[in-house]
Amino acid sequence: MKVGIVGLGLIGASLGLDLRRLGYEVVGVARRQDTCTQAVAAGVVDRGSTGFEALKPVDCVFVCTPIAAIAPTVAAIAPYLSAHTVVTDVGSVKQAVVQAASQHWPWFVGGHPMAGKTEAGLAAAEPGLFAGRAYVITPIDQTPEDAVAQVAAIAADLKAEVYHCSPEAHDRAVAWISHLPVMISSSLIQACLSEPDQAVATLAQQFASSGFRDTSRVGGGNPELGLMMARYNRAEVLRSLHHYRQQLDRLTTLVTDEDWGSLSHWLQCTQQARPHFVVPEVAPDVSPQVAPPEAKS
Ligand code: NAP
Repeated sequence: MKVGIVGLGLIGASLGLDLRRLGYEVVGVARRQDTCTQAVAAGVVDRGSTGFEALKPVDCVFVCTPIAAIAPTVAAIAPYLSAHTVVTDVGSVKQAVVQAASQHWPWFVGGHPMAGKTEAGLAAAEPGLFAGRAYVITPIDQTPEDAVAQVAAIAADLKAEVYHCSPEAHDRAVAWISHLPVMISSSLIQACLSEPDQAVATLAQQFASSGFRDTSRVGGGNPELGLMMARYNRAEVLRSLHHYRQQLDRLTTLVTDEDWGSLSHWLQCTQQARPHFVVPEVAPDVSPQVAPPEAKS
């Protein structure tokens, strides 16, 4: 099967690495020849091109550009595609993208692999990035079933967990677990920057360890991604921020009132709820290796 990838950044190049390893023939399209050359050298694509005509023979195109460029890219590649080429995207927001892109190409299927990392660009690409992660497919009434099945089959080949839901349900759900965390994590970093005593601020930077690493990771990631989440999923991001502010207000009241009983109950609830969202990581086994008893002669 021939696959096209437009946008050879973190997600596009990671997809290319996996798809080639799985035996797909991968054609990459980037804006600059340099990127094409790098992508071929890194084993991300079989061929690279700066022109959309390279997509003519492919069966399925993954649009892996920033969110704002997805629908315009679908419109731009449409004249070069064969009649039933499936076009899908990887954008972190679905309603606005699916609505616009489906008007440019009837065989468009919205998709979102729920995998990523702090770094951006081709150099950050990683094999196996999608394995074991959710891959959400967001068809609408007019999306052809065959097109949905083709994207689902490729996602399953990547060893991702495939889910189907409406673009609206996707955007509301990811606001809670992806977009809101980016906003909260960035405001955590901003709050730390507001420390007026420079000596204390420096100490905080020196003391920061695993807890701060975990909670600041998504707020310290690609700024363009956070901006696009807020712009293109604005209503759901605002809704989740309002709910979050209510929780912060409740928390502030508990601490102000020294209501330790209620605070303890609150923290027990959150401790019990977390495994419903993320499977706790198994701690590595660091017990000393016990040598087997020597055989008696
Ligand atoms: P990235 O590493 O910055 O890659 C974006 C790529 O798109 C770059 O190769 C860039 O090409 C190209 N590009 C930028 N502007 C473009 C334009 N106007 N027209 C055509 N190509 C353009 O970003 P990414 O993290 O891979 O994100 C790509 C998509 O994946 C986004 O839609 C994002 O929502 C989605 N996503 C991201 C994550 C994540 O955690 N990073 C997770 C899931 C989904 P040049 O090299 O030419 O600049």
